[in-house]
Amino acid sequence: MKGVAILGATGSIGRSALAVLDQHPDRFRAVALTAHRSGEALLALAHRYRPSLAVIADGEVPAGADSTPTEWASGRQALLDAATHPDADVVLNALVGAAGLEPTLAALRAGKRVALANKESLVCGGELVMEAARQGGGELVPVDSEHSAILQCLQGSRAGDVRRLVITASGGPFRGWSAEMLAAATPADALRHPTWDMGAKITIDSATLANKALEVIEAHFLFGVDYARIEAVVHPQSIIHSMVEMVDGSVLAQMGFPTMEIPILYALSYPERLPYECRRFDPVAAGTLTFEPVRADRFPAFALGVEAGRRGGTAPAVYNAAKEVAVQHFLSGRLGFPGIAEAIAETLERCPAAAAQSLQDVLEADARARRTAEEFVQRLAPC
Ligand code: NDP
Repeated sequence: MKGVAILGATGSIGRSALAVLDQHPDRFRAVALTAHRSGEALLALAHRYRPSLAVIADGEVPAGADSTPTEWASGRQALLDAATHPDADVVLNALVGAAGLEPTLAALRAGKRVALANKESLVCGGELVMEAARQGGGELVPVDSEHSAILQCLQGSRAGDVRRLVITASGGPFRGWSAEMLAAATPADALRHPTWDMGAKITIDSATLANKALEVIEAHFLFGVDYARIEAVVHPQSIIHSMVEMVDGSVLAQMGFPTMEIPILYALSYPERLPYECRRFDPVAAGTLTFEPVRADRFPAFALGVEAGRRGGTAPAVYNAAKEVAVQHFLSGRLGFPGIAEAIAETLERCPAAAAQSLQDVLEADARARRTAEEFVQRLAPC
C-alpha cells in the first residue's frame, strides 16, 4: 500500500488521479489532499477519501471540516507539510504554474517520489529540482503524457543509445488558423481543445504552443538530453504520445487514446505496471495518423520558450512568469491572442537571464518578470 499526497486534488489532473486510486484501493491510499481555494470541493473529497491531511493553500478551511476524520490546515506552509507528509510515498504535484516549484523541492528533499504534472517546477527551477532529488534521495517520475511516453520508450535502453527525442503536439485548437484569424481569437475559441480535456492554463498554453516549449525544457532536465536532440512535431490525433529515436535508427513510440489516467497510474506504480480498466486501444478506430512541422512563425511563443530554455539560468522562469501573466489577461479579455507572445518577448528582452542558484534567485526573477509583463499589458491595454 502506497500513501499518495495529491497537491491540487480539485483540478483536472487531481480528479483523474483520484479516479486511478478508485481502481486500486488495495494499492494506493490518499494521505493528503490540497486545493488552492476550492474549500467545498475539497470537503467533498475529504468525506470520500478520508485523507489524514487536507490543505487549503490560500483561504479558509471550509465550514463542516470538523465533520471529517481529517486534520485540516491552510496556508503555504501547510501545502509544504502536505508535500512532505510522513505517510506519503508518492507526492503527485498537480498544482498549476510556478507555485508548484517549492513543493516539488520540499518533497524531493524529503526523499519522496514526485509524480510530476506541474511541469513549471522543471521549467522554472530545473537545476535546483534535479539537485534536490540528488541531495534528498527523492525521485522524479513524469505525469505529462509526452514524458511518460518517453520514459516508457527508454525502458531497457542504456545511456548513449538515444539519438533524439520527438515530442508530439496536438497543434491545439488553432492549428491551421491564419494570422488574421489568430488576431481575433477569443478565450472561448482557445479553450476548445480538440483532443484533451484539461485545466484552463494548460489549454491556453496548448493554443499558443507555449506548452510544447515547456515540455521541451521539461524533457531536457528529466532525460538529460541536450536541446539540439529534442524536437517537437504536430500530430493532430494525439494517439502517439511521443517517440524516441535510437542511435541505430530504431524509433520507439508509445500510443493510446488520449487519457491522463494511464500516465498518472504509471507514475504511481513505476516501474511496475498495474491493470487498469479504460477504453482499450483500437488501431482501426484510431484511423490515420498524421504529422506536420510546428508552425513556429504562427506560434512565436514556442520558439521563445525553447530559446529561453537554451539560454538557461533564470530565462525559463522569466518566460513562464510572463506567460502566466499574459494568459490571465487574455482570459479576462484584456489582451488579444497575439499579445500573449508579445508580452513574453518584451519581458524576456527586459529581464536578462541571470544564474538560478537558489529558490530565491528564481522567485526574484519570477516577480520581476511578472511586474514587467504587467507594465507591458498596461501600456498596450490601459485599464
Ligand atoms: P487545474 O487548474 O485543473 O487544477 C489546478 C489545481 O491546483 C487545483 O486543485 C487548484 O485548486 C490548485 N492550485 C492552483 N493554483 C494554486 C496555487 N497557487 N497554490 C496551490 N494550489 C493551487 O490544472 P490542471 O490539473 O489542468 O494542471 C495541473 C498541472 O498539470 C499544470 O502544471 C499542467 O500544465 C499540468 N498538466 C495538466 C494536464 C491535464 O490534462 N490537465 C496534462 C499534463 C500536464 P483550486 O481548485 O482550489 O483552484
